[in-house]
Amino acid sequence: MLEVVPVPAFTDNYIWLVHDEESGETAVVDPGDAAPALAEAERRGWTVSQVWNTHHHWDHSGGNVAMKEATGCTVSGPAAEEIPARDVALSEGSELRIGRHSGWVMEIPGHTLGHIALVFDDDRIAFVGDTLFAMGCGRLFEGTPQQMYTSLQRIADLPEDTALYCGHEYTLANARFAAQAEPDNARTAARLDQVQSLREAGRITLPTTVAEERATNPFVRASNWEEFARLRSAKDSFRS
Ligand SMILES: [Zn+2]
Repeated sequence: MLEVVPVPAFTDNYIWLVHDEESGETAVVDPGDAAPALAEAERRGWTVSQVWNTHHHWDHSGGNVAMKEATGCTVSGPAAEEIPARDVALSEGSELRIGRHSGWVMEIPGHTLGHIALVFDDDRIAFVGDTLFAMGCGRLFEGTPQQMYTSLQRIADLPEDTALYCGHEYTLANARFAAQAEPDNARTAARLDQVQSLREAGRITLPTTVAEERATNPFVRASNWEEFARLRSAKDSFRS
């Protein structure tokens, strides 16, 4: 079994530590900052052997060089982007391994053009970076609405009990927008309440699941890319 642990970084980023007890391997997903990831690994007695990047933004890859200098880890990241200290270039279908666990790479352009997700089918885990957020999605910095809509649908087509690990704690603002976008969706209203309580208690709202997103994420629930594009521009100017 893979253990996945959040490491908060900057104001609202999450770096994820992925630990395989059997092999003793630990991977770090999107270390925008090396220091908190290394501190958490050390606190747990874990040795970092890999870094996995979902996309090139500095708040996801800015700690790569320091991680590699500190641990000698192997850095894997999207082939189509400039990734600091990258050893392994990943593209659609590339395999990732940690111990005996095997994952694969899904290309999900939109937020950035080379953005990838890391999917571990048997473990029902996927790291989706800044493409899908709980009840929301990333901004379109490089890609088109068509690309982003297709990418979100691919994630939503994973088995519904797949846990989705996102790059930021944006759930509360997303939930408020979702409640406005779908005022008659009871699941969305209930989740907004739940997320509000979690955040008031200072607690994390992730991971989410494919099932939860299919039920409450308006961007996933949009019936075509045009509807998605309208929602995305409404969200860009939404003040929660
Ligand atoms: Zn980003």
